[in-house]
Amino acid sequence: MKKALELHEFVKEVKRGNISIAEHTEKILEEAEKSNSKFHHFNLIAKKSALQHAKEIDAGIKTGQHKGKLLGVPITVKDCICVKNFESRAGSKILTGYLPLFDATAVAKAKAEGAIIIGKTAQDEFGFGTFSNNVGVDFEKPLNPIDPKRCCGGSSGGSAGFTALTSLAHASLGQSTGGSIASPASFCGVAGLTPTYGRVSRYGLIDYANSLDKIGSLGKTTADAALLLEVISGYDMNDSTSLKAEAQDLANANPSNDLRIGVVKEFFKACEEKVQKECMKAIDKLEEEGATVEEISLPLNAKYGIAAYYLASTTEASTNLARFCGMRYGLHGKLEGNFNEYFSKIRSQGFGTEAKRRILLGTFARMSGFRDAYYLKAMKVRTKLIKEFRQAFENLDVLVNPTMPLVAPTFSEINKLSPLQQYAMDLCTVPANLAGLPHASVKAGEHNKLPVGLMITADHLQEKKMVQAAKAAEGLK
Ligand code: GLN
Repeated sequence: MKKALELHEFVKEVKRGNISIAEHTEKILEEAEKSNSKFHHFNLIAKKSALQHAKEIDAGIKTGQHKGKLLGVPITVKDCICVKNFESRAGSKILTGYLPLFDATAVAKAKAEGAIIIGKTAQDEFGFGTFSNNVGVDFEKPLNPIDPKRCCGGSSGGSAGFTALTSLAHASLGQSTGGSIASPASFCGVAGLTPTYGRVSRYGLIDYANSLDKIGSLGKTTADAALLLEVISGYDMNDSTSLKAEAQDLANANPSNDLRIGVVKEFFKACEEKVQKECMKAIDKLEEEGATVEEISLPLNAKYGIAAYYLASTTEASTNLARFCGMRYGLHGKLEGNFNEYFSKIRSQGFGTEAKRRILLGTFARMSGFRDAYYLKAMKVRTKLIKEFRQAFENLDVLVNPTMPLVAPTFSEINKLSPLQQYAMDLCTVPANLAGLPHASVKAGEHNKLPVGLMITADHLQEKKMVQAAKAAEGLK
């Protein structure tokens, strides 16, 4: 198959008049529709509006009206990120029929640079998962394009799956609470970038856990994902946790070979041997090319990361989901019985099993009588874990470890795992997310054709270093 043009090359060709955006958009829509019946990467394909938008841009280019860093680039958007007038369900039946009246800031910024939104991608319901196996009631699980018996990873599974599958220029907006961009990027062999918490506005993101959620990007290459991340970054007064940080030129950041790299011992040890081997090969090559590599230890993050994360995230999720009760957004029913009966009926029908489990777990962890022992304890632990990272970054530029402890598992392998065993698979990704640190996952190698992802974590607001390291790792042969 012909290699897709990188986005910056694509945009250059568009501006030279060598690519018709209408034709390119038509082609990718055709590919999306055709592949979707088998792989289920989309919850919605926006054919009509995408084609209309493409024609407008083509006409605008001729009159010199349309410019932009993403001119004519087809972008897919994870279902939990609102797009005006596109049904946005966060992969849940409970949001059936919800049509946002506005674009999420990240979407608006991409559109302002000429991007064309072609669809909403499949995900674990509200982001609750690691494999995209926890899709909402009546949704189909997205399948890995490398081997459809296997998962795409989660929760941004459809975004990573389609990014890997398409033969055309494209990038995707994903969302991470505890690793949902890195995990699917690793399992599908694409690049996934998660920014510092607050770097990209959360306005228009359907919340999972507010203190952890980030919108980020996925692309076939780090350069593609970096261009999209650069476009969506920036302060937004509509998000009170948005940072007033200096913008960084990520798209043109050169690969760097003189980084000080820390290899996280505990995260490595927790991974399957084949995964360790592929990642170690990539790290050895980085060292050969000039990086300084040392082993480092994050014992607190390794021991308490999962517990602190699942208490914090489910607590916040349980309050966030309270608003979905059949009165305001999405699913409605016939008003019968008293309010409690009505709410219970709608919520029982609208939420899937994992969402219900997390509502129960989170409500328990914040109940009076248990709050001090669980939620508040998790908050204290979180502070300690952040301190441990701070120390590590005193002498290092980036930390590296395998993104996931295994290659993409089959659905029958996943079904054998208990929910707790599934949560434990997030061991390497959850700590950076608890600390709000920017991190990338890039393909380090493969085992039996299945990709192995290397995770690169940088200090707060050091996205540029993260991209430079990711480009260096990705360029290794
Ligand atoms: N696997 C983690 C969870 O289930 C992370 C999900 C996410 O980042 N949205 O919570």
